[in-house]
Amino acid sequence: MSTTTTPSPQGSAKAPQAPHFPEQVTGMYILARALKNVGIENVYGLVGIPITEAAYLIQGQGIRFVGFRHEQQAGMAAATDGFLTKKPGVLMTVSSLGFLNGLTATANATVNCYPMIQISGASDPTMVDMNMGTYEQLDQFNTAKPLVKAAFRCSKAEDIPSAVARAYRAAVSGRPGGVYIDMTTPALGQIMNREDAEKLLYQPVDVYSPVAPNPASVDRAVEILKSAKRPAIVLGKGAAYAQVDDKIKTLIEKYNIPYFPMSMAKGLMPDAGPLSALSCRSTIMEKSDVVMMIGARLNWLLSFGKGKWNPAMKFIQLDVEPQEIDANVPIAAPVVGDMGLALEAILAKMEGATMSTDPTWVPALQAETKEKDAKFATRLDSAKNMMPMHHWTALGVIKPIIESNPDVILVNEGANTLDDTRDAINMSLPRHRVDCATWAIMGMGMGSMVGAAVATGKSVVAIEGDSAFGFSGMDFSTACRFKLPVTVVIFNNGGIYNGIGVPMDKTSDPAPTTLDINARYDKVGEAFGAQTYYVQTPEELSKALTESIASKKPCLIDVQLAADSGKESGHIGYLNPAPLQDITV
Ligand code: ADP
Ligand code: MG
Repeated sequence: MSTTTTPSPQGSAKAPQAPHFPEQVTGMYILARALKNVGIENVYGLVGIPITEAAYLIQGQGIRFVGFRHEQQAGMAAATDGFLTKKPGVLMTVSSLGFLNGLTATANATVNCYPMIQISGASDPTMVDMNMGTYEQLDQFNTAKPLVKAAFRCSKAEDIPSAVARAYRAAVSGRPGGVYIDMTTPALGQIMNREDAEKLLYQPVDVYSPVAPNPASVDRAVEILKSAKRPAIVLGKGAAYAQVDDKIKTLIEKYNIPYFPMSMAKGLMPDAGPLSALSCRSTIMEKSDVVMMIGARLNWLLSFGKGKWNPAMKFIQLDVEPQEIDANVPIAAPVVGDMGLALEAILAKMEGATMSTDPTWVPALQAETKEKDAKFATRLDSAKNMMPMHHWTALGVIKPIIESNPDVILVNEGANTLDDTRDAINMSLPRHRVDCATWAIMGMGMGSMVGAAVATGKSVVAIEGDSAFGFSGMDFSTACRFKLPVTVVIFNNGGIYNGIGVPMDKTSDPAPTTLDINARYDKVGEAFGAQTYYVQTPEELSKALTESIASKKPCLIDVQLAADSGKESGHIGYLNPAPLQDITV
């Protein structure tokens, strides 16, 4: 017979009971064991009531617990871990505000199709439901629900192993995304006989079960691809995530199909490869007759497949999510299923096929690439001697250093800092670029940097706008505590977009876009024992970045830019309701 006791309700003065070691355990122990059982290696979080002991027990299972200063960053780390490893990243938070802070990252993970599980401590739901005003009272379960793929609530310890296994399956199956587990205090504190608890634990089998596409859809896609005169492939981060690099390479190289990558698919095929049409995005949109979307969505980032796009375009779309198909334009050949199985089926069907590609198509794109690249080189060159430095001055220095360290993972956020870095730096390895992605949000930098370093053991360089860094800066200290091989490069132009905002009349306050051009971000690094640099010239930047990457230690470089470097909203200024220079009161 099991002897199960429930701790006293929250709010009562009675202290919770302690289990008798070793014959008794708590729900927290079961949680730690359940995470271990499904193969979780890292948990990112921030402790406090009621999850502190759970975090210790997780460490006790040999799982790394990476403690952050803000839950949102812990969540960004978990999401990046999920993107890079194809296993759910796990975020653990306390209740109420901790839960809400973390939920931002989990919602962002869902939007970006990163597998992740948020586990938050929660008040006794019977008290929440009766609105009794218990400690950190919030109906977290229902708050999370609309923002995640699946949500589970554990009201008793017996539910924990199944919740963890099901959350894992939900996070990685079909279109990956965020999953929430409401881990109530009664479940965490419940005491059970060890023997009974052990019986609950099980090894879930086949946690990721890929689904093959319908063969008729493969036939249709192959027919259209073979008939294309000006074919092209758009690679998205779903293709990078799927880890099917060889199959993509075979399809592109064997059938001589030019490709252009969305930002986080950069490097899946080399940006500077002979079939890369990275610089010919507009030409592909306008002139291609068949475009195969591989793990990319025709959302705002691709003008919804309309406007500039050839109206007679036939889209082939490989995606695991049936509801994505026809989202904005009719898809001529949807191939719905797991990326690996879809590509395998397409390659098998293509075997021995000849393409109908116009012989001038690829050479024309190559000529255009050459011309555009030369123009870009001139642009970098003309900024070479600008003092104070501009974005392009700094990027002219950073580009060759990152490109000669291809195995460094690049994390990137900002407005101009994001756009210009993405355009300037060629990637040559898959899953080596992590940025603010589909929502184009700010505030993922330090979290994603830590997650990338922890998940892969690789060196990471985060190139951050000064504004972007502000959202997560304190979590640079997390990189320092865990002694990670990371370098943060902060482009300080003194503001959001730039540092030359003029306040409206009748105020002595700074303009809404103005930050601090004289801020010494290197001092933030110094506070946590990092190697730091304050650089004003290309030579100083070159030395600082080279040394930092080689050191494999936490480093922070404050790059002094000119206040007038950068424009409003970077490359997406057109989305502003009215440009700043045009508004009047
Ligand atoms: P990008 O921003 O790079 O264009 P998106 O995030 O918009 O990429 O699109 C990624 C797409 O990849 C999503 O529609 C998602 O459903 C799909 N996807 C993710 N993982 C897989 C997979 N393993 N197999 C097939 N499709 C996938
Ligand atoms: Mg700035």
